[in-house]
Amino acid sequence: MLTPGRILTALTDIAVTYRGSRNPNIIGDAIGSKGSILGDHLTSAERSAHMRKIRKIDTKPELVVRRAAHASGLRFRLHRCDLPGSPDLIFPSRQVAVFVHGCFWHQHEGCRLSRQPKSRLEYWLPKLRRNQERDARAATLLMDLGWRVVTVWECETADPTIVQQRLREIADRAMVMQP
Ligand SMILES: [Zn+2]
Repeated sequence: MLTPGRILTALTDIAVTYRGSRNPNIIGDAIGSKGSILGDHLTSAERSAHMRKIRKIDTKPELVVRRAAHASGLRFRLHRCDLPGSPDLIFPSRQVAVFVHGCFWHQHEGCRLSRQPKSRLEYWLPKLRRNQERDARAATLLMDLGWRVVTVWECETADPTIVQQRLREIADRAMVMQP
């Protein structure tokens, strides 16, 4: 019988197979080898966050950033689940990991979209705090591995030219920083 759990497992398998088939040894030696060592670093909470991410793979802010990434002319990869926090995009040649964060879910500080809920606080506050902690942990792990971490907020994606500009700056700066 198909239970929701089984369906999710099946979807996970499909997603993994699909992604695996498209990502043979994707990003070259340095990162590839680090990635394989990291193979099983995900906690179950992070795993389910990643599955949520796969299901929502085409959110509008992400599409805006992806278009801008194309325009930047740099090669990039999507949803690297073998890296901490499963960055939404990575630029392997620049060692830059980009997260596209929803302002509410990731509590963008000072942003009008991140207003905290008014009811069921006992449910929401710990949940939102865990998201923030998870983001901070992922960023630290990535930086330990030599990645630069960039967050593009949902509210920033309202103007695609701003995002485009930001990615271009990332690319330029990273180039200057290379030895
Ligand atoms: Zn925001």
